[in-house]
Parts: sequence; structure tokens; C-alpha cells
Amino acid sequence: MFQRLFLTYLLLVGAVVGLVGAALYQRAEDLFYESVHEVAAVVVVVFIVAGVAAYVLARRFTRPLHALTEGARRIAAGDFDYQIRSQGARELAALADAFNAMSRRLAETFDLLEHDREQLRAILSGMVEGVIAIDEHRRIVFANDRAGELLGFNVKAVVHQALDEMLLQPGLLEIIHKGLSANGPYRQELEWKGPPPRNLGVYVSRFPGHGMPGAVIVLHDTTELRQAERLRQDFVANVSHELKTPLAVIKSSVETLVDGAAEEPESRQLFLQQIVREADRLEELIKDLLTLARIEGGHLRLEPQAIPLDRAISECLERHHPRAENKTLTLVEKPPKDGPADVAVWADADALQQILDNLVDNAIKYTPNGGRITVRWSVAEETVSFEVEDTGVGIPAADLPRVFERFYRVDKARSRAVGGTGLGLAIVKHLVQAMKGQVRVSSSVGKGTTFRVTLPRAHPLAAQAVSGTVANERPPEPSVV
Ligand code: ADP
Repeated sequence: MFQRLFLTYLLLVGAVVGLVGAALYQRAEDLFYESVHEVAAVVVVVFIVAGVAAYVLARRFTRPLHALTEGARRIAAGDFDYQIRSQGARELAALADAFNAMSRRLAETFDLLEHDREQLRAILSGMVEGVIAIDEHRRIVFANDRAGELLGFNVKAVVHQALDEMLLQPGLLEIIHKGLSANGPYRQELEWKGPPPRNLGVYVSRFPGHGMPGAVIVLHDTTELRQAERLRQDFVANVSHELKTPLAVIKSSVETLVDGAAEEPESRQLFLQQIVREADRLEELIKDLLTLARIEGGHLRLEPQAIPLDRAISECLERHHPRAENKTLTLVEKPPKDGPADVAVWADADALQQILDNLVDNAIKYTPNGGRITVRWSVAEETVSFEVEDTGVGIPAADLPRVFERFYRVDKARSRAVGGTGLGLAIVKHLVQAMKGQVRVSSSVGKGTTFRVTLPRAHPLAAQAVSGTVANERPPEPSVV
């Protein structure tokens, strides 16, 4: 451009000089030849001056255009903030201003887009659902962290990879393929054996458009939901079964009495005793169920306070003394060897009583006649522990981790025979945990079982007041289980 302008100027100047020379030659040929040297010198000077002027003019005209070209190049390379100096002719300066305004607008728009993109990325990353976006060739364009966690891949490494090669979970690809060929959004649940086993809700939704545009796949981990459903179903089945058995016995006993057994005093006594026993079992079961429902529903208010543990244990053993005596069992109370016996535990009074009663009751139920039940306690800096040890039937190692589950019984027949509901230890576990404690069990089949409960120790100030009335020195912090 610059060269062309420069040459055009020179040509114009040459043409003007040529025309002037030709006119001079026609008018005064003699004069022309006489002054040819001066004319030549003038022509050379004119050419030099015209050349310099042409150069300056051509540069002045093309410089703003160069600046515009450079600006366009920088913007195309992503430098949206680049501004051009407004220079040259008025029209060129106006063009530069318009260009600058356009680049400013572009910079703002791109900033906004980037901000939106970051926001979207942050939302997708924070989602509890796994999200995978694929393009029309089924290549992964995006996967959030949760998707990587659920499907066990590195989210950065899978971008641009074929979906079919990245998803190795059996069944998952089939669901996605079905979703991609469906007309609308598609959902199916996948039960994946693992490891770890998982239930996944898979949603496939194609982007609108013709042909085979991309799609978004959302993975929802429903493992806990399904597990809770299964537990609820098991619970309902267990409760129905537990209620049915004593009711069936009561019904058949009453029918037998109605059919004539009531006339014979011996039979009448037998059946009536059976009815009372089964009614008691029903009552126990319903009581335990209500307690569990209150605990699990969050309606049980616990009011922890300083409770003298030795007194709580003595009172519990006293309550169970007649039953132990019936079975010729020895009840032993063992205070700590090296430490104060009158330690205070930070617990809810009713909950502590229920825990002790359940553990001592179990020890009595599962210890054959002539056995021994020992309750000992100890104290540490921050905690208080007590153990209920028996010389009973024991629990096989394989059953130990499950004894705290609702309705779990090692020996169903034995538990029923001794009037167990299968809920006692579940209630113990919930109550102990609600009071920020721990319960553990160790056992040896045929030798005996020991349950150990650890609870927070009451504040020393509270403990001092323990010998009198029960103190409540800590700020009361009722906890709802
Ligand atoms: P249950 O009302 O049947 O006793 P629990 O929840 O109290 O229900 O206990 C669950 C199961 O754990 C019992 O059925 C029994 O098999 C076992 N178990 C609990 N305590 C003892 C113990 N002291 N000795 C032996 N087995 C026990």
C-alpha cells in the first residue's frame, strides 16, 4: 500500500514536470536548448523534493491503517483490552475510535462470559450429583469431581476421551445408550455390585438440536436412600413378625379356653399363665419400639447432669436382685481399686438407668443358673466407664458386630424363651451415643460376655455435690437424640 502510494505520487510529479518541459519546448525551442542544464537541475531538485513529500504523505496516510491492522491482529489473538491511538485523517481517527469502542465492548462481553463460565463450573463442582457432558461424537467435554468420585476416574484426564472407553461399569453404558436414543429425558436406576456396591440413578438428557447433538448425563448416588428403604422394609417385616407370634399364642390359648379348657382348673391356669406371659412380651416389645421410635425420630429429650455412678449401679442391682436370686446368680459390685468410688457421670438419669437395666437384664437372661454377674466401674481424666460382665453363654465372634442392630439375635429361640425383644442393645447403643459415649462388647462362647460403656465424666465441682442431692453444675445442655 505504502509503495503504491509513493510510486503514484512520483509518477504524478514526473507527469507534471514532463508536461511543463514539453510546453516550454514547444513555445521556445532555442531557449529550451540554451537552458537545458538549468532545467535538468530544476527537474532533479523537483524530483527529490517531490519524492520526500511523496514519502511523508504516503507514510502519514498508511500509518493509521497499519495501527488498525495491528489492533485487529491483537484482538484476534485474544488481547481484548488493546486500544489503538486515534490519529491521521478525521475519517481514520473516527474509524480508530469505533474500533477501540468495539474492542472495549468485546473485552466486557468476554469478561462476563468468563465469569459465567467460572460460576457454572463452581456450581457443577459443588453438586452432589455427578455430571458428565458429551459431544455429538460421544466424547467427554466435561465431567465434575463428583462424577469422577462415583465412577473412579480422573476428571481432567477423561476430557476429549470417548465415553465408551472411560465407563467400565457394567450396565452403565447400556443405560446411557438407551437414554441417547430416547425421545425425551431418560432415567434408570443401576445397581452396581462395586466395589464399593452402589445404587446409581442415571439421568440422560440430550441437548436440543438436529441429528445427534451432545447430551448431559447426571448420576445420583441413591445408595443410602435404598439402604434406608431396605432397613425400613426389614424393620416393618420384623415388627409384624414379632407382634404376630405372641398374638397367635394368645389367640390360640383363648380359643382353647373357650372350647372347654376353662372348665379344668389345671389347664385354665396353664393357658392363663401363657396369655399373661405373651401379653407381657407384647407390652415389652411395644415399650421398646416406642423408645426406639422416640430416639430415632429425634423426640427424646436428654437432660445430662452429674449422677453418682456407684449409686446408679447399686440401685440397678437391687432392682434385679430377685430375678438373679431366682436363677441362683451372684451379683457383684466392684468399685475401682485405685481411685474414688463416688465418681459422677455426666448423663441423663433415665437414659443411664435404661442402659444399666438392659445390660444387667441381658446378663441375667443369658447366664445359666449358678453363674456370676459383675458390675465394675473406673474413672479417667475425662471419662467414666462401667462394665457388665457375666459368666453366661457368650456370643460367637461372627455375631459380635451385629448384636447392636435392631432385632438381631444370636439365638432366636433362646432370646424368645427368655422374653427378649431383640431391641435392648439397639436402644443401649443409641442412648450411649446420644450422651457422647461409647459401648463395646467382648465375648467368649461358653465363658461369658462383657459390655463396656464409657461416658463423659461430670465436672469436679458437680462431683463434689454428688454425695448430697444430684447436682447440675454444668450449664444444662439438653440433647435431642
Ligand atoms: P434381646 O431382647 O433378644 O436380648 P438385645 O438387643 O438385648 O435383644 O440383644 C441382642 C442379642 O445379643 C440377644 O438376642 C443375644 O443373642 C445377644 N446378647 C445380648 N446380651 C448378651 C449376653 N450378656 N450374653 C450373651 N448374649 C447376649
